[in-house]
Amino acid sequence: MRDVVVVGGGLAGYRFAQSLRESGYDGKLTIVCDEEHRPYDRPPLSKQLLAGTYTEEQCALPGDAPEVTWVFGRRAARLDRDLRTLVLDDGAELPYDGLLIATGRRARAWQGNLPARGVHTLRDLADTASFRASIGEDARVVIIGAGFIGCEVAATLRKEGLDVTVVDVAPYPMPVMGAEIGARAARIHESHGVRFRLGRGVSEVQGDDRVTGVLLDSGELLEATVVLIAVGSVPNSEWLGGSGIAMERGVVTCDATCSVLDEDGNVVDGVMAAGDVAAWPHHHGEGAVCIEHWSNARDMADLAARNILLEAEARWPMAELASVPTFWSDQYDVKIKSAGFLRAADRWTIVSEDPEKPSLLVEGHRGDELVGAVAFNMNRSIINYHRALAAPVSG
Ligand code: FAD
Repeated sequence: MRDVVVVGGGLAGYRFAQSLRESGYDGKLTIVCDEEHRPYDRPPLSKQLLAGTYTEEQCALPGDAPEVTWVFGRRAARLDRDLRTLVLDDGAELPYDGLLIATGRRARAWQGNLPARGVHTLRDLADTASFRASIGEDARVVIIGAGFIGCEVAATLRKEGLDVTVVDVAPYPMPVMGAEIGARAARIHESHGVRFRLGRGVSEVQGDDRVTGVLLDSGELLEATVVLIAVGSVPNSEWLGGSGIAMERGVVTCDATCSVLDEDGNVVDGVMAAGDVAAWPHHHGEGAVCIEHWSNARDMADLAARNILLEAEARWPMAELASVPTFWSDQYDVKIKSAGFLRAADRWTIVSEDPEKPSLLVEGHRGDELVGAVAFNMNRSIINYHRALAAPVSG
């Protein structure tokens, strides 16, 4: 293999390029990215960058810059598998021997009318800059969506004393972690002054030119000068339409080695995927699962770089490298950490708790099987779960 093209210059694309060079690959390596920036890390966007404690430069991804040809500001428009060619939005054609799909996700758009100004989403550097710029001193901020990004932004803004209300149809915040953790997370936010409207839908985001309020399905009108829409994300995979690559709700289907599959379930020659746009068969999931977290993007990218130079039969499975998904989230003085595939849990049990600190350790089970654990301010305890949550060793 002498000509590798990476589509997407986020964490997965950049990390893949670093790992491929570290493995000794000395052929051509090109990264195509529709953003104009050098690659950067997204976790600080809702935390340190929004708070102003990091500059954009401090959001740079870690590690040495690999030797690559960058194609910035260009979008992949189409994949021609027969000709092994990537077609860009300006019509340029890039031939490849090996291809990494790493186009990540974008913020889910609001399905309804919106005022022209004052309504934001948060996924990239420009989003954080324009959201920050629209928050004046007396801002009344309404966040629609109590997932991780909504909660992190609420925490960041409350630390500045801003007026923050969070709305969600779910009965508790960060629902992937279950009701016990959600209720405790809500209490922590409320103790810092966040107002929740949970179990409530939004009927309308109001305002002619600039946003003025958010009308709830209860009839309550929340006054707002700024609104953040944080209702999840969708995969950037439209450009793969018609390529015959297998996708489930827009997420690229991989086998256990990060090799991309076609619609008949066969490995597509020379094409791998990594990060938020891709799914792989985790042992606690049903079929291939998409794990939208930093460490998963890093691990898939490392594995894809190791495997892309190997024949399909010789490739390593994710279970050998990283079978335990992890994530972290920082909210106030609480470091949330998890291990395992939390979506598989049907029951959550509190193992230990100290509301004063606050600290918390919760296990998630599916039936009798342990599938995940979440901790608040108990980092070491989470590490202890890795062995129990790892994929069974085959053979
Ligand atoms: P991305 O980082 O989305 O990169 C994909 C790149 O591909 C983008 O630059 C995109 O513009 C580009 N692209 C898209 N389509 C095309 C195209 N057609 N052609 C060319 N380029 C294209 N995870 C945690 O574990 N902990 C956290 O605390 C945490 N905080 C987060 C906070 C925020 C605000 C966000 C947005 C995410 C956070 N995450 C966190 C998730 C983590 O950042 C992602 O899992 C990670 O960025 C995924 O990397 P990726 O390379 O797959 O995708």
